[in-house]
Amino acid sequence: MRYPDSVPQCGEYLRLTIPFLTQKELPANPVNYALGFEMVSSMNEGLNQAFAELVKDGSTLTAVQSQQLFDAHIAQPGVEEVAEANDEFGRVLGATQSLVQEMAAEGGKYQDSLEREGPKLEQCSNPGDLQKVIDILVADTRAMRESNEIMNSSLAIHIEQIADLRAQLNTTRKAAKVDSLTGLQNRGAFDDLLAAEIEEARLSSQPLALVMLDIDHFKKINDSMGHLFGDKVIKAVARAIVKQTRGQDTAARIGGEEYAVILPNTDYQGAQVVAENIRKAVEKIVLRKASDNERLATVTLSGGVAQLQDDDCSESLLQRSDDALYAAKNGGRNQIMLAQAA
Ligand code: GH3
Ligand code: MG
Ligand code: MG
Repeated sequence: MRYPDSVPQCGEYLRLTIPFLTQKELPANPVNYALGFEMVSSMNEGLNQAFAELVKDGSTLTAVQSQQLFDAHIAQPGVEEVAEANDEFGRVLGATQSLVQEMAAEGGKYQDSLEREGPKLEQCSNPGDLQKVIDILVADTRAMRESNEIMNSSLAIHIEQIADLRAQLNTTRKAAKVDSLTGLQNRGAFDDLLAAEIEEARLSSQPLALVMLDIDHFKKINDSMGHLFGDKVIKAVARAIVKQTRGQDTAARIGGEEYAVILPNTDYQGAQVVAENIRKAVEKIVLRKASDNERLATVTLSGGVAQLQDDDCSESLLQRSDDALYAAKNGGRNQIMLAQAA
């Protein structure tokens, strides 16, 4: 867990963060707030060292440097940690809200009690002295309420900023899983999902199949038509794969022109049908030149299908479907091969 500290401890970091940002002349935006929070709590050694290095000549951080520190030491560590940070910022947000409410309630109570006690003091025998004391107490009360108000409004701003940060982290978390060219899951997300789906298949005693696909002679397409055109082909194939799969299936781009499809609750025959359907759909893709509609290229792909066995882990399942894909390439391409049982 990234932020295991209790509500009072987080409140303490919050109180230290504001003067820290002021002292370092950093605007209290969500990025700097997160940096400050982690710096004052000394929870992130890498960040503390990188920060010290950047300001060692007495300079302040630029906005770009702040963002880079945030990306490298807070947001980037990995999809899981981004997700955890997101949840924990929610917790800090809750803690901050409670603190604000507590402070407001305390201030109100203090004022109430002074107002109640004040008239009683006036009835004492030496009114001159007592009045002086009361004046001091009333002045103290006002000062407290004013400082409370300032704290309240600055804390309210921080609440808003933490909420922004949370939304930002949510977006980052989603973006970290998606391949930007095709919109399919990326390699990292695929690895996590495959492990999770294998576990689920074991628990539910359901079959699971994995299909690996690779565009045939893609180098030639790239070489003859250019890289940008190659990218269009990669996107068109991704669309064809998505069309041939269902909601519970996961399609991922796991390499340049390589894809994988996880098929939960699907047996060997079912997976072979899905893979064949993808192969046929890709064969039908027609790519034409925008200027004169001339047909430019035919695209085909090869595939390997493997089914989860009792003693499988992600690696062995991937290896068998990759071996089957290799056999499909050697067998002449534009075909689907089934993996041998191990
Ligand atoms: P095979 O039928 O054996 O798969 O032949 P191939 O030419 O498809 O095989 P290979 O894996 O050797 O070549 C894949 C090529 O894909 C090489 C690389 O330049 C290209 N490539 C990888 N990523 C991208 C990308 O994002 N965009 C484009 N346009 N090309 C890419
Ligand atoms: Mg390849
Ligand atoms: Mg290829």
